[in-house]
Amino acid sequence: MKDTFTHKGMRNKLVKTLKMKGIADKNVLDAIGTIPRHWFMDSGFIDHAYVDKAFPIGANQTISQPYTVARQTELLEVKKGDKVLEIGTGSGYQCAVLLEIGAKVYTIERKNELFKKNSLFLPKIGYRPKKMVFGDGYKGLPEFAPFDGIVVTAGAPFVPKPLLAQLKVGGRLVIPLGISSQIMTVFTRKSENDFKKKEYGEYRFVPLLEDKE
Ligand code: SAH
Repeated sequence: MKDTFTHKGMRNKLVKTLKMKGIADKNVLDAIGTIPRHWFMDSGFIDHAYVDKAFPIGANQTISQPYTVARQTELLEVKKGDKVLEIGTGSGYQCAVLLEIGAKVYTIERKNELFKKNSLFLPKIGYRPKKMVFGDGYKGLPEFAPFDGIVVTAGAPFVPKPLLAQLKVGGRLVIPLGISSQIMTVFTRKSENDFKKKEYGEYRFVPLLEDKE
């Protein structure tokens, strides 16, 4: 089930909007131009799929705004074959973007309802993460570490130490940090004990949950 033509015109327009907003990574733009984002939303909301806005997906969660997905993926500097950990599978859209770029994706979701949905849905539309886990993103996935990149797709009140520990040297953690609003922050592991931190502006995410639901 690969839709390449339906809504292609709308996707091209979205890609143009993202370019205008400063997204330059061709792999990221190509992935967004290819993936039918409307498949990740309830069928009644197709009109909302190709505008640059976040949207509710049930379980009190949202599919992130395309610009945010694009920017986080760009900051992650993903290359084909990279091993990437995503915290917050959500709709599965960010996961599909990473897979489309050629990353090997491990993804964790805290809400069982969304985990169960994605376990069936993503393979059905042709996107196969290496591992989908129902669990706590604060802990990462130590059994599959180290990762070339880790992307947190919910607002984190602090930097979870296990995520830094699970980066390869040279690897990057892209994490929105803050409570009511977040600063997009990138940590690059320079050596075993040395991390470089850089900030990239303000965003608004749903919170990274600390209690199992
Ligand atoms: N990457 C998603 C964004 C979804 S919003 C997408 O492309 O649609 C953030 C997601 O993080 C939600 O699905 C939420 O349930 C999940 N989440 C919140 N706290 C979490 C935690 N501690 N561990 C893993 N996932 C979490």
